Amino acid sequence: MADFLLDYSLEELEALITPKFRAKQIFQWVYRQNGTDFEQISTLPKTLRTELAERFTLDSVRIKHKSEGRDRSVKYLFELADSRTIETVFLVMRPTDDEKKPLYTICVSSQVGCKVGCAFCMTGKSGFVRNLSAGEIAAQVLLVRRDQLIAPEKGVNVVYMGMGEPLDNLENVAKAVKILQTEAGLSISPRRQTISTSAIVPKIDLLGAMNLGVLLAISLHAVDNETRAKLIPINKAYPIESVVEAVKRFPIDLRKRVLFEYLMIKDINDSPSGAKKLVKILDGIQAKVNLIAFNPHAGSEFQRPERAAMESFQRYLLDHGIFCTIRQSRGLDIDAACGQLRERIESDVSRETLSAQSKQSGGQNGDVSRETI
Ligand code: SAH
Ligand code: SF4
Repeated sequence: MADFLLDYSLEELEALITPKFRAKQIFQWVYRQNGTDFEQISTLPKTLRTELAERFTLDSVRIKHKSEGRDRSVKYLFELADSRTIETVFLVMRPTDDEKKPLYTICVSSQVGCKVGCAFCMTGKSGFVRNLSAGEIAAQVLLVRRDQLIAPEKGVNVVYMGMGEPLDNLENVAKAVKILQTEAGLSISPRRQTISTSAIVPKIDLLGAMNLGVLLAISLHAVDNETRAKLIPINKAYPIESVVEAVKRFPIDLRKRVLFEYLMIKDINDSPSGAKKLVKILDGIQAKVNLIAFNPHAGSEFQRPERAAMESFQRYLLDHGIFCTIRQSRGLDIDAACGQLRERIESDVSRETLSAQSKQSGGQNGDVSRETI
């Protein structure tokens, strides 16, 4: 079977294709000129075009469905070569004074399903199917940009907050970060890429050791181990204290902050005493917190918190010098599962940041063969 071209980094293509400069041409054509058929690359010799078409596919990820929200956000359902489906969300952020800040955010999936099995998460409930390859992750960004007609010079943020646990597929996620970062391609700086994790501590250390330059988001969701373990089963292996220590070890640009996501659930983790504990937990960390309202879904045992509970939680954090944003569902007009994602992402990269003064395992297709053409 032919390989998915997007699974190849530029370096890997350069090792395969002679003369080497052709690899860059192909890479640019795929990522910057939105090429979809090798025959279109008129600058390449005919024999090379034929060889490429025999060796590689370009359409291993396709748009199966999309639903558009009123505020221009779009939820995509992508179909993979094995007919599995994943979700990706495109968000248009509010403009700010900072012209350099991208207006667009793309939230990508890293796995089909998830092994972590969080009590509140639909993806977790449906179990784990498989890792996405680096190309399947990069393709989500490429295809959304293409579909949204975003010009190559326009920046985007990428957040690994879709389906799956990115650190459970670290090798492919890291490769996707690099592919997306490649200058001849989409050139998305790692500082515009945020990896969100349920906090698999040893993997946070591994990610740190890779020094990719990405931003880190921790799904905390609770301030005591008993509650957190009920919500996120892996807390039994990696309790809150160990997560905090891992965050402190994580290399991060001093101008940036680690994002702590806190999914608020009525009567579970929304009490004012939680805010107090959170301030203590975050002591000594350059943190910002996102409060996310639990979004009920069919069969879920939890309830959405009161707006007032979220506001007083936030107020306490702000009063104690911690950046904090809050996001309540806005009568989601794109359907449920990804509504949840969407809500979360919007708050994660939200422009309405309230300031404190007033905030490995290799997947399939991951390994590419080295046969030259
Ligand atoms: N696995 C990683 C990456 C994102 S998981 C992680 O857990 O950090 C998807 C995210 O969607 C979760 O962190 C959670 O904040 C959010 N989410 C899942 N179910 C939700 C729900 N019912 N309501 C609101 N957000 C939810
Ligand atoms: Fe997996 Fe994240 Fe959902 Fe937990 S919240 S089950 S880690 S996708």
